[in-house]
Formats: sequence, structure tokens, C-alpha cells
Amino acid sequence: MHSLVDLPHAALRLRRVGAALMCAIVSIWLAPAIASASPAGCSVPKVVSDHAPGTIVATAVRDIPSGLEQTDYIEGGSVYRTIRCSSAGDFDMSMTVGAIMAPDGQVAEVPLETIRAQGNDLRGSSVLYPDFSSPAGAALWARDGGRSALHVLPAVPSAQRPALQVMAPAASQDPSTFASTDAGCSQTSFTINNSGWLSRAYHYWIDAGTIPAIPGTAHGQLLSGHHVWNNTTNPCGFADITNFTSFFDGDTTIRANATADGVNVVDFGSANFADCNTVGLLACTVWFTSGSFITEADERFVSANPWSATDTAPAGTFDVYSTATHESGHALGLGHTSGGSTNFLTMYPFQCDGCIRERDLGRGDVNGLRSIYP
Ligand SMILES: [Zn+2]
Repeated sequence: MHSLVDLPHAALRLRRVGAALMCAIVSIWLAPAIASASPAGCSVPKVVSDHAPGTIVATAVRDIPSGLEQTDYIEGGSVYRTIRCSSAGDFDMSMTVGAIMAPDGQVAEVPLETIRAQGNDLRGSSVLYPDFSSPAGAALWARDGGRSALHVLPAVPSAQRPALQVMAPAASQDPSTFASTDAGCSQTSFTINNSGWLSRAYHYWIDAGTIPAIPGTAHGQLLSGHHVWNNTTNPCGFADITNFTSFFDGDTTIRANATADGVNVVDFGSANFADCNTVGLLACTVWFTSGSFITEADERFVSANPWSATDTAPAGTFDVYSTATHESGHALGLGHTSGGSTNFLTMYPFQCDGCIRERDLGRGDVNGLRSIYP
């Protein structure tokens, strides 16, 4: 079975769900003590988080009874993770959802990461969103933001929730100021998905024919972003380099695939891909596991975005280099930072337009990598 998990700051809620319909409103609340006494249950993918600076909090092991969902709230309720256990006692799926402030002032919930059972193995997907408070992000929201709710696994009824706080994506700011501000050197948040490459290597291909007309050198920036992790490139002076290497194996015409095909592919294309088809996202990574090992990871960059691949991403465009660094972090086994005060880290789930600060790593990114590949 999969190893067990939990989020350390979560308020435990258990919900009995309808056997057939997940949208059943009739819910019976169980006290945690009753739930933990149940002999049957499923384990879920491990998530480790270090919300306290410099401290890695190991997660508690907890079974979820068969046929139930469990929702954990973190970050004051702005992020929740719902885990579903099948009636047969197997892990079914989990989804991490973040509440964001849309440009119209409405609070919207968007899926950040999804993990599904695939036989005895898992398939996960993580998405990167634009900063919806920026003009370019607002335009993407206006284009297709209404689709987000369709893809959110609902949490417990709103009356049971902690006070909802809204994730605040970093507002667009002058990239020239980021290095002197923080650059993520003191931000320690990270999550991992309890899987990594046994070989300590990620061999990827690029479907170069799918790269749209982007100012600058998109192909080169895809490589640069992936290889940031090879040397733990950071502006902070961190010397702790992990023995992990990404290798570019060449160009291909194979597409990123929502089902495992044994080839790690980076391509550009539609957002209608795997579990990625939500709001106007920038990019998405899908990974596959066998036991605790990643066996494949594909990255999809959504073509219909205002990309740039120049030295400094102009306002209104999103940086290919930064996005490649972020997506390849997923491909190596990293999840998202959990919001709020982590916006200078590469694995923060939002990217501002005109920003290049996610090109290199912050403290949490390095800590996360080293936790998977000591
Ligand atoms: Zn992401």
C-alpha cells in the first residue's frame, strides 16, 4: 500500500459520502475517534510541509475509512485537500484546492494538484496559474475562468469550514527589485509527493514542433529551466547541491500524454489535457508512479498564453524560463508551496507577468529537493 499522510496544521473533518454520487449533500459527520477505530481504510500519498521556518514537520499517519472523504484545511482555510477512499478501502483520489481572488473580486476555488489511483500506482497533476491580479492574468481569467468550479472536488459544507482566507498571488512587480527584496532566500515552504526518480535522473524530450512563435529563445529556455535543479542554482549562496541531474535527450514528435507511454515529453498545446483543463492556466505537469518511484513525467505548456523567452520578460508576458523551472520541479517530485508568504519560491503556484524570479531557487525549493534526494 501507499504510505500514509496528513497535513500538520489541518482541522480534521470526516464526511460520509454517498456510495454512488460524490455530490450527495447528505453528510454524516463522524468524530475522529470513531473514524480512527475503523479497521478498514486507505492510505494516501505523503505530503510534508515545513510551515515553521527551518523546521520540517513530519506528517502523521492516519487511515481514512472506506468510502469516506477527508478534508484537511491549511493556511487558515485558504487551501484544502480532500482525499477520497473507495468503498473497497483503496485510495481513490486527492485534490488540493486553493481559494483565490478573481479580478472581479469574487472568491474562486481552483485545483492546484490532483492525485488519482491508477491500478496499484498513482497519476498526479499539478498546475501553474498566472497571477490573476495582473492585467495578463486577468485577461486569462476573463477568457475561461468560469470553468474552474467544474473541476473542483468539493470540500465539506461551507458552514463547517474555517474562516476562508484568500490566497494572494504576488502582484506584478518590477523584476529588477526582486533580488534585493528577498528572492526566496528566507522562505522555507515546500511540499513533496512522496515519490522520486530512483536513478536520480530525469531524461526528457521536447516536442519542438509544438513551440509557438515566442519572442526570444523558447527551446533554450526550456533547457535552462530544467537544468537549474542540476546545480541548485540560487541567488542566496546556498551550496547544498543535490546529486540529481536532468538530461535533455533530444527533440521528438511525441506529445505529452495523459496516459503513461514511457517517454517524458515537454510540449506546448491545449489546456485540455489530463486534469489540467481548469481556468486559464499557464502549464501543467502530469506524473506517474510505481510504488514510491516516479516512472514518467510529462509537461504541457498551454500555447494560448502571452509567452516570452527573452532575457527579461516584458510586462504582460509570462516567462518560459521560470515556467520551465517550476514544471520541472514537479517532474522531480515537488508539489506546490502552500500560498501566502511563499511567493518568491519557484514552486509557488502562481506566476506574475513580467517576472523572472522563479528562474532560480529559494530556500524551500532547495529544502524540498534535498528531502527527496538527500
Ligand atoms: Zn505547479
